[in-house]
Amino acid sequence: MSYIIGSYENYIKGVWQKPKSGEYKEQLSTIDGTAVSKCAMSNLEDVSEAVAVAKIAFETEDWSNNPRKRSKALLAWAAKLKERISELATELSWQVGKPYKEAFGEMMGAIGYLEYYAGAARTLYGSTTSIDENTLSVMCREPVGVIGVIVPWNYPITLLMRDMAPALAAGNTCIVKPAEQTSGITMKVISLLEGIPEFPVGVVNAITGKGSLIGNALVKHKDVDMIDFTGSVDVGKEIMQQAADTMKKLSLELGGKSASIIFADADMEKALPYALKSIFSNAGQLCTSASRILVEESISEEFLSRLKTMTEALVVGNPLDQSTEMGAMNTPVQMETVLAYIEEGKKQGQLLTGGYRVTENGLGKGYFVAPTIFVNLPFDSALVQEEIFGPVLCVQTFKTEEEAIFYANGTCFGLASGVWSQNIDRAMRVSKKMRAGTTWVNCYNRLMPECETGGYKQSGIDRAGGIEGINKFTEVKHLCIDFAPAI
Ligand code: NAD
Repeated sequence: MSYIIGSYENYIKGVWQKPKSGEYKEQLSTIDGTAVSKCAMSNLEDVSEAVAVAKIAFETEDWSNNPRKRSKALLAWAAKLKERISELATELSWQVGKPYKEAFGEMMGAIGYLEYYAGAARTLYGSTTSIDENTLSVMCREPVGVIGVIVPWNYPITLLMRDMAPALAAGNTCIVKPAEQTSGITMKVISLLEGIPEFPVGVVNAITGKGSLIGNALVKHKDVDMIDFTGSVDVGKEIMQQAADTMKKLSLELGGKSASIIFADADMEKALPYALKSIFSNAGQLCTSASRILVEESISEEFLSRLKTMTEALVVGNPLDQSTEMGAMNTPVQMETVLAYIEEGKKQGQLLTGGYRVTENGLGKGYFVAPTIFVNLPFDSALVQEEIFGPVLCVQTFKTEEEAIFYANGTCFGLASGVWSQNIDRAMRVSKKMRAGTTWVNCYNRLMPECETGGYKQSGIDRAGGIEGINKFTEVKHLCIDFAPAI
C-alpha cells in the first residue's frame, strides 16, 4: 500500500533501518480517517543503537568544533524545505488537520528557525574576565553532547526545528522522537537532510514509536545528556522525575491556559479579529492559545455580540479547501476530550455559541468541533482552569484592573498572556504583572525565532527561541589561565 506522506523506517547512522520489533503503525488522516503514513514501532534496542551512534558521532565527527559547517548544514536543510514547501504543507494539513495556509505558515516558521540558528551557530560567543593582573578567565560555551528531542503533534515541524536547529547549531548530536500521531510528516522532513554533505553520519537520528516506551527510554538513558521536551504538563512532570537518576539537563516547554485582557479603551477593530484567531487557529490546539478572554464589563455586551457573529461566520471544513478557516481535531480521543469539556461547560455556564461536533458536508468521517464560546463560567471550573486544547473559549468579565490581573494569573499555568489597551501606562502596568513567559500588547501569538518563549509556573522550564534557545544547549566551561611568574 502506498501512503500520501510515505512509509518510514528509523533513521540511524545515516541509513533507514527496520525496527527491531518488525512492527509498524499507520497514521490516520484527521480529515477522513484514511491512512496517510506508516512508521516504525521501535523498542529499547533501537533506542540503545541510536544513542550509541549519536554518542560516537559527537565524540568523533567534525561537527562539535566546526560552527561554519553546522551553519551550512542548517541552511542547506532550510533550502530543501523551501523547494518542497507546497507539498510539505499539503501533507502537514492531511496529518494534523490544520488549514493549508496555516500549514504553509508552519513550514515557513520551521525554515525561519533553521535560518536563524544557522546564523547563531557562528556567533555563539562565551565571555572573558580579568580577575587580577596575572589571571584571565575565559567562559567557553561547549555543546552538551547527545540531545533527545521529543516533539508534540500540534506543530510537529515548527517545534522540531525550534528545538533541534539550535541543538545542532550549538554542536550537539540528536535523536528525534516524533509524536506518534504525526511521525510520518516529521520523518519526511528528516529524510530531506539526506544528501547534504555538511551533515556527518550519525549527527541526526530519528526513531518513531510510543512515547511511554522509547521517549521514556531516552529520558532514562545514561548516555543521553539532555532532554528537550515539548508537550503536556503531565508528561513533563514524569520526565522530570525520571531524569533525576542520571541528572541530565532538561528543557521543558509545556501547556498553557493563557488569558487576553481586553480593556474598554482597546481598539476593538483590532482586538476582535485577534481574539478569534488567538483561540481558533489550529482549532485551539496551540500551547499559547488565548483560551480565556477577560473583557471589561462596560464593553462586554457589545464585544460578545460581535465576537459571536464573527465566530458563527467561521468556515469549518476540509483543511485542504481554500475557503476553510478552521480544521479538525488531531485524533478522535482529542475530539472526545474536547466534547466532554463542552458538556461539562453547558451544566456550569452560559453557552454563547457552538458546543457540538460538526458532521455536515462529509465532515463526519473526520474529527471536527464547532468553535465554541462560554461566558462567565465559575472561575474554579475545569474549563477555566485546565488546558482543553480545542476550539473552546471561556470569556469572563471584570470591573477593575486588579481584578483582571488576579483572574489572568489565577491558574497553575504561565505560558502566555495578552493585554489590550490604548492607554500606554495601563498596558505597561498590567503587562509587568503578568506571570507568564510572554505578554503580547495589542497583538497576540506573534511567535518568532529571534525571541524567547517559555513558561512560568507549571508551563515549563527554560526558554525556546532567541539566544536563550541556543545557550541552553551549551555547558559553560570556566577556563582559568594563570600567567604569573614563579615566585
Ligand atoms: P504529550 O505530552 O502527550 O506528548 C509529547 C511527546 O512526548 C510525544 O512525542 C509523546 O510521544 C512523548 N511522550 C509521551 N509520554 C512520554 C514519556 N513518558 N516519556 C517521554 N516522552 C513521552 O503532548 P501532546 O499531546 O503531543 O502535545 C500537546 C501538549 O503539548 C499540550 O499540552 C500543549 O500545550 C503542549 N505544547 C507546548 C508547547 C510549548 O512550546 N510550550 C508547544 C506545543 C505544545
